[in-house]
Amino acid sequence: MSKKFDVVVVGGGPGGYVAAIRSAQLGLKTACIEKWLNKEGKTVFGGTCLNVGCIPSKALLDTSHKYEEAKEKFDVHGISTGDVTIDIAAMLKRKDQIVKNLTGGVATLLKANGVTTFEGTGKVLAGKQIEFTNHAGATETLEADNIIIATGSVPFNIPPAPLTDDVIVDSTGALEFTEVPKRLGVIGAGVIGLELGSVWMRLGSEVVVLEAQDKFLHTVDQAAAKEAQKLFTKQGMDIRLGARVTGTEVKKGQVTVTYQDADGEKKEVFDKLIVAVGRRPYTEGLLSGDCGVELDERGFIHVDDTCRTDAPGIWAIGDVVRGPMLAHKASEEGVMVAERIAGHKAQVNYDAVPSVIYTHPEIAAVGKTEEQVKAEGVDYNVGMFPFAAIGRAMASGDTDGFVKIIADAESDRILGATVIGPAAGELCQQMVIAMEFGSSAEDIGMMVFSHPTVSEAVHEAALAVNNAAIHKVNRKPKKK
Ligand code: FAD
Ligand code: AMP
Repeated sequence: MSKKFDVVVVGGGPGGYVAAIRSAQLGLKTACIEKWLNKEGKTVFGGTCLNVGCIPSKALLDTSHKYEEAKEKFDVHGISTGDVTIDIAAMLKRKDQIVKNLTGGVATLLKANGVTTFEGTGKVLAGKQIEFTNHAGATETLEADNIIIATGSVPFNIPPAPLTDDVIVDSTGALEFTEVPKRLGVIGAGVIGLELGSVWMRLGSEVVVLEAQDKFLHTVDQAAAKEAQKLFTKQGMDIRLGARVTGTEVKKGQVTVTYQDADGEKKEVFDKLIVAVGRRPYTEGLLSGDCGVELDERGFIHVDDTCRTDAPGIWAIGDVVRGPMLAHKASEEGVMVAERIAGHKAQVNYDAVPSVIYTHPEIAAVGKTEEQVKAEGVDYNVGMFPFAAIGRAMASGDTDGFVKIIADAESDRILGATVIGPAAGELCQQMVIAMEFGSSAEDIGMMVFSHPTVSEAVHEAALAVNNAAIHKVNRKPKKK
């Protein structure tokens, strides 16, 4: 006899495990299937995010940032450290321990909420049945009133740069280098390429980033992108735009990369090469031909605004569906779907999904960029404020960057914000809250901000939208 559930979730990443917990909280009999095996061969929940994504990358970003600060930034405070060294094995061990604590925490939460876990692979069959195959190969059939697909994504591979055991790696391999590569190539100046390139550059690698696009961070506000390019270049990152990788050759532990730019074909030799050209939805072996779930032309599971697939009672969330590949977007979709299954009217506000690049400085954005509103013909005002004029930023020696707020010229409603600078991810979150409440720039301007904080840059940028910033000269006369 097959086991019957109200909800079966396939995939236990930040989309799936959150959907499972929320479903169980709402009184639904819930199961979650996960196939991820960690280095010790143990099934772990948490998906890409906890195992090889958000968390381990941030652990390495923090270690490498501290190392660089100790090496290069302490002397201005009058602190001398002598020789600063880095123990890569200790750094990786710390990262692994953080991952272990978090994945263990998710397993505990699933259990505490009464979610039945299945360790192995799920396949969606017709009639809302799921074929479950455990790691030993034994199968059983589960039945569900609702299925939530949350199988995530995997790195893209490109034919000119096939992965090798230890020289050409993807983001997962780049979290595991056991020594600092002398020369490191990165294909792709996207979020992952810049974050992982930063980690190893801070630890001593000579980093060259090869990016096919002519524009740096082309989806980011271009004032922030320009500032970032200038700062990363100053940090030592060699960013080559309009450089499309066309081939690689691995010999004697090194890789020769061929790329094409405006001047023709060029070559570079690296000790390691990170392929960071994006990710693709993961649906291999997931769907039986007759289950009714359709893919779109790019291979994502086709869903509507509320994450319903084309098959009644089957939902899909997270990286495997359209929209930004972000852990928090996956989780919010998980909550929305669980609540909808339980009969509530939940919704994700896709206009206010923030994104953060955890370089130094961080770059964070929500809503529309100036380029977008311009292209849409919206009449808008811009308020900008530099961290160089913020006392708290000066006190901590972190004055690069600015806050930029875009507001509708007529209603003053905030349409978007970009922050490049200290704690940009946290500051941008203030803008998410403001946007969710339909706030105007004036509303933010009228709020009291603690002094001295880097948040004061948000306050001043909001005031600057209407030419009322106090700590900088406002350029144009205030509009009536
Ligand atoms: P995943 O996390 O990919 O989880 C899917 C799970 O489903 C996996 O555990 C997989 O084993 C399982 N699975 C797949 N198929 C099956 C099957 N048939 N049966 C059973 N189980 C299955 N996002 C951010 O928001 N912030 C960041 O800072 C950030 N940093 C990142 C850094 C790196 C290096 C990478 C690679 C990604 C980063 N991301 C970040 C992206 C983030 O990790 C993803 O957006 C997020 O994990 C997507 O969640 P998900 O639940 O949709 O899928
Ligand atoms: P993201 O999708 O944000 O992770 O960014 C991946 C980046 O890789 C994009 O900016 C692409 O333009 C870039 N890219 C993809 N293929 C190549 C290639 N063959 N050579 C150089 N850059 C590439």
